[in-house]
Amino acid sequence: MANKKDDVCSFCGRKRKDVQILISGIEGHICEHCVDQAKDIIGEEVASKKGSGAKELKLMRPIDIKSYLDEYVIGQDEAKRVISVAVYNHYKRINYNMIHRKNKDDVEIEKSNILLVGETGTGKTLIARTIAKMLDVPFCIADATVLTEAGYVGEDVENVLVKLLQASDYNVEAAERGIVFIDEIDKIARKSDNPSITRDVSGEGVQQALLKLLEGSEVNVPPQGGRKHPDQKMIKVNTKNILFIVGGAFDGIERKIASRINTNVIGYNKKGTDVIDKDNLLQYISPLDVRSFGLIPEIVGRLPMLTYLHPLTKETLKRIISEPRNSLSKQFHKLFEMDGIEIVFKESGNDYIVDKAIEFKLGARGLRSIVEAILTEAMFTLPSDNKVKKLVVDGKYAKAQLEKTNFAKLSAL
Ligand code: ADP
Repeated sequence: MANKKDDVCSFCGRKRKDVQILISGIEGHICEHCVDQAKDIIGEEVASKKGSGAKELKLMRPIDIKSYLDEYVIGQDEAKRVISVAVYNHYKRINYNMIHRKNKDDVEIEKSNILLVGETGTGKTLIARTIAKMLDVPFCIADATVLTEAGYVGEDVENVLVKLLQASDYNVEAAERGIVFIDEIDKIARKSDNPSITRDVSGEGVQQALLKLLEGSEVNVPPQGGRKHPDQKMIKVNTKNILFIVGGAFDGIERKIASRINTNVIGYNKKGTDVIDKDNLLQYISPLDVRSFGLIPEIVGRLPMLTYLHPLTKETLKRIISEPRNSLSKQFHKLFEMDGIEIVFKESGNDYIVDKAIEFKLGARGLRSIVEAILTEAMFTLPSDNKVKKLVVDGKYAKAQLEKTNFAKLSAL
């Protein structure tokens, strides 16, 4: 029998003494270097197949998209319906333009980016994130406030795409079908409604730069982000099939809506006066209002699906604690279960948690910090206490625990 010392890697020829591991197969051997290399090759192949162009995307119907969203996002029915239609049409459009559109004279379906208007913490990012998860496409979040026109201090608009590339492991084809959520678009609104007064660098310039991404064009992206250097190798990303979901609180837009509706009512629609629900003017939002808030008409035109999110009521906040698929209460159930403890959230406990979230003006984002604060002591002591098998979080317990913690710190969040 041949001496084991004479074994060589059948792929690269390295001798046993030159490698750390030599794995034997039926016909030969492979060393750790070649295993690594093979792994890279497989990774690249799989990635390129995943993003490979002409594969038809499997579509979910709007009703199914909405039911999926329902599992994660409580309330916000109008927004979820609009988004479901927009996402369905968007991916239908990609399939059509890529596969079914035979020649240039056929109808070309244009894309419909989405604008979500609603107070902070009402679920805009959550909706965008959930959609991306459902579709299994690369997703990234960008903040409009840090973006600037090229040449000014801040991030170039192209950096939004760097994040998307990173989310897709630099698989350009996958990134080109991804979803980008741009938050706080209202913060780059033009300060004056009259475009001719002066050029507003902070607002209009950035909007112009963003427009390039939204309308679908080839953009040169610096692979590592940051400023462009003349000698840096750029990655070309086509934004034609990237779905942009843009969000903003648009503080005070109700006033614009009210004044538009009033003019309309007086001018053309006297009958409509009594049906207007003054407490929820956001439901009447139209592209005109977003324009008079200070988004340039070209941007508004590139965000044709416009919808709104309701402020979260006490009832909705309560539902958020327990109903979503990965709700807070379900997460804490799991955590305690691992120590053999059953945790029960009583209605009175949830009421207390929600009242505090409202009192501290924390909204849904604050629910977690409050629950964490209430449960910290139990999470500290119970794992070492073999006797306690059940923890009931009612109003009394929640209040007692929260009062032991540093209130001021929590309300300053
Ligand atoms: P926005 O983008 O509107 O500022 P987010 O989507 O980031 O707000 O919401 C913040 C957090 O609050 C989310 O992570 C989620 O846990 C919770 N939340 C907000 N709105 C909802 C909702 N409608 N349903 C379920 N959870 C919500």
